[in-house]
Amino acid sequence: MTTRSISILGATGSIGASTLDLIRREPGKWRVVALTANCQAAELARLAREFSAEVAVVADESCLPELREALAGSRIAAAGGAGALVEAAARPADITIAAIVGCAGLAPTMAAIEQGGTVALANKEALVSAGDVMIEAVRRHGTTLLPVDSEHNAIFQCLAGNDPAHVRSITLTASGGPFRDWSAEQLAAATPAQAIRHPNWDMGAKISVDSATMFNKGLELIEAHHLFPVGLDKLRIVVHPQSVVHSMVEYRDGSTLAQLGPSDMRVPIASCLAWPARMDTPCDPLDLAALGELTFRAPDEQRFPATRLCRQAAEAGGAAPAVLNAANEVAVAAFLAGQIPFSRIAVMVEATMTRYTPPAPTSLAEVFGVDTEARAHARELLELA
Ligand code: NDP
Repeated sequence: MTTRSISILGATGSIGASTLDLIRREPGKWRVVALTANCQAAELARLAREFSAEVAVVADESCLPELREALAGSRIAAAGGAGALVEAAARPADITIAAIVGCAGLAPTMAAIEQGGTVALANKEALVSAGDVMIEAVRRHGTTLLPVDSEHNAIFQCLAGNDPAHVRSITLTASGGPFRDWSAEQLAAATPAQAIRHPNWDMGAKISVDSATMFNKGLELIEAHHLFPVGLDKLRIVVHPQSVVHSMVEYRDGSTLAQLGPSDMRVPIASCLAWPARMDTPCDPLDLAALGELTFRAPDEQRFPATRLCRQAAEAGGAAPAVLNAANEVAVAAFLAGQIPFSRIAVMVEATMTRYTPPAPTSLAEVFGVDTEARAHARELLELA
């Protein structure tokens, strides 16, 4: 068996846990280079010991003493801070799983891209914010970028062996989140606890809220626009409450290819880990007869304006997606902290996009500049609210 090396950025999160679960099932196959977290030092140290990682990094430097103590007596190097995170991501690895949440993952993801191996991208906010800059870096460094997001992974699989010029449309499916059938009045009173209880998927808090607002689908639309450049007018969204069909590609001859599977992120992660081959997962096989029916309906952009805002940002291009993403991150954090009601998230994002329209960033430094400034505008709007 050939051993492959792997780094997991965001190892203590939901995607990190699913990845490590798969790796644990293939003893001897993987050599773990770097595992990172923000501040969950004890959990990170436990994982680093279990998988004999070369280095464990906490992004928040104040958590480094705890990490050092937890790794004392081991051969695992402990490091902390933004620079250490980027250094760890830049260590050569056959595959890097980019699974930090939010734009905080941008610098380490870019560092992984720049070492030119394979990057399996879950961290959609990084691609949304730095789309053109990141795709250009992928090209320049000859990096293989594989999509972890279940929808994009499905599209990637449906496109395999086909000429993108023959694509008539790409349809992203959306579960519609926990509030898909709620009225505007009910939405206004939705609580963080209700928002993070997703009906089909078990995910981190931020993406769960994004799923409830439909910003997740909107961010995925922008992500798809960068990963599969067939033209925005060919990208569609359909609500599919069962989350069994993960996305579809329609070709010019009228054939539509879809990828189906259980609502378990280990399936798309396994597809990336084994690509271009396949590997086993412990997931139950799909039982369509037991499921009975699969349903589809158009998204409701009155109750959930997020997909409209994201399409607008994608159409505007330049800095607009970075501004939208930054404002959404600030608004989601404010909602989770009980500072704003659920329906204000989209209002705040739209207001930030109207207020702040900087020129297109052409470098990573400029993307960070736009991100910082957009967050400041969004926070000001929070104070005005
Ligand atoms: P989680 O919140 O579960 O985990 C996030 C990870 O990022 C943790 O390891 C966390 O460390 C780390 N982290 C958080 N903030 C920072 C920071 N400022 N700097 C460095 N590291 C940080 O998120 P998910 O696993 O749910 O999602 C990760 C990414 O994958 C997101 O971009 C999400 O949109 C995407 N994704 C997730 C899916 C899912 O099913 N969960 C599906 C498709 C995409 P710590 O534990 O110390 O806080």
